[in-house]
Amino acid sequence: MSEPSIFTRILDGDIPSEIIAETENVFAIRDIAPQAPVHLLVIPKSADYRNVVELAAGDPALLAEMVGLANTLAAEHTDGDFRLIFNTGPNAGQTVFHVHAHVLGGGLEEHTL
Ligand code: 5GP
Repeated sequence: MSEPSIFTRILDGDIPSEIIAETENVFAIRDIAPQAPVHLLVIPKSADYRNVVELAAGDPALLAEMVGLANTLAAEHTDGDFRLIFNTGPNAGQTVFHVHAHVLGGGLEEHTL
């Protein structure tokens, strides 16, 4: 068996990180190295999917649950507008292969993408 991902270890309480929200199948934490005034991570409790492509193919309802929690959190933590990023593959900056969405908000007006 492979090692549990860092996010599974956080969910299990083995690594400290406040779980700021959760639904039946998804939880959220603050990113340890924020890249925006609001930078949250929305993560399935299951580590079955390595990236968003696998997740969309395997469980689109779970992907929808992630987007829903991202929207709820953006309403609570910023003005409701947010950027949702799924780094997919190491050359795109993915470092944790347990699918997760970055929710970025606040002060994003100057970004060009
Ligand atoms: P990726 O680079 O895979 O798209 O995103 C992984 C994210 O997880 C990074 O933004 C990184 O800062 C965050 N991260 C890594 N380890 C921890 C941790 O122990 N706690 C928290 N809260 N975030 C982490």
